[in-house]
Amino acid sequence: MQLVFATNNLNKLEEVQQLIPKHITLLSLKDIGCEVDIPETQNTIEGNAIQKANYIKTHYGYNCFADDTGLEVETLNDEPGVYSARYAGEQRDANDNMDKILTNLENQDNRNAQFKTVIALHLNDSLKTFTGICKGHITETKSGTKGFGYDPIFKADGYTQTFAEISLDEKNRIGHRGKAVQQLVDFLNGL
Ligand code: IMP
Repeated sequence: MQLVFATNNLNKLEEVQQLIPKHITLLSLKDIGCEVDIPETQNTIEGNAIQKANYIKTHYGYNCFADDTGLEVETLNDEPGVYSARYAGEQRDANDNMDKILTNLENQDNRNAQFKTVIALHLNDSLKTFTGICKGHITETKSGTKGFGYDPIFKADGYTQTFAEISLDEKNRIGHRGKAVQQLVDFLNGL
């Protein structure tokens, strides 16, 4: 079976390729000749994941899945959420985004936050979603050089180090994306 992963991120593609059952061939957007920026105009993480998967199914006809991730900060009404990539502006700069969160949380006691990943899967005319959540809190300052995005200011519950200080293996094991991917893999393995 062929399955398209609607991403241009080669790291994500490689990571998922290693996890999915061997009888499934994973195709990238490039493999199917899709070079457009797939619209992500919904106001929820679920909505965007479904929109991206729908786009591939409708325009290319393939079985496919798409993911969308956001950071939700409790006292900021779950922002930045769908705006995570461009929270501080269209320059999509991770440092600017983190600075904006730290400024918005100045003098706040409640620093609870969670990362959420939703994967939407189109398989033979049915649509399924898988959600992975990692709960934690926003630190007072940035710390660590690994990872990307908001990793230097996020500590998962039970951890003394930020996501930017732990290994990628460890992050995948406890993290939002890893959990959502694992659910997808369990589902595909059960087919
Ligand atoms: P995407 O949906 O995977 O492209 O993620 C959207 C945005 O959320 C990214 O640009 C990052 O700012 C942030 N983000 C997603 N996943 C992570 C993560 O694992 N760590 C830190 N930030 C992330």
